[in-house]
Amino acid sequence: MVRIGAGFDTHRLVEGRPLILGGVRVEHPRGLDGHSDADVVLHSVTDAILGALALGDIGDAFPDSDPQWHNADSRLFLDAALAQMHAAGYAIGNLDVTLFAQEPKLGPVKLAIRDRLAQLLGVPVADVNVKAKTGERVGHIGRAEAIGCQATVLLTRAV
Ligand code: MG
Repeated sequence: MVRIGAGFDTHRLVEGRPLILGGVRVEHPRGLDGHSDADVVLHSVTDAILGALALGDIGDAFPDSDPQWHNADSRLFLDAALAQMHAAGYAIGNLDVTLFAQEPKLGPVKLAIRDRLAQLLGVPVADVNVKAKTGERVGHIGRAEAIGCQATVLLTRAV
């Protein structure tokens, strides 16, 4: 038996914040704004896993009104979703991620993000894919005001 989940997230690019994508610190003059570390990749992957389990969304579990998640490492959110996945008797089948960013160019870092995601999920890199798209210079992503991320995950029954 398999279950599929999708996640999507967007955060604003602002001065004075580190840029963290999929747990990887990316050198860039601006970073993503948010209550936690604003890791748009880990947020969309966490939502995809919660979605596959029919367990609502990341905001239900970790409300941004709660001060304990201020500047939190988003790995905490992912680890909580993975614990719920294991408790439900499922394992990661594969993960496919698409990042949307006009700036910075993500080609040079997408393999590092893939490696880190595989490590965080505890799966072989062959089960993780990371794609990078620009915003074609239109809309909030194309004007480099934000970075977006979409994730699709397949869960399989653990044996
Ligand atoms: Mg988010």
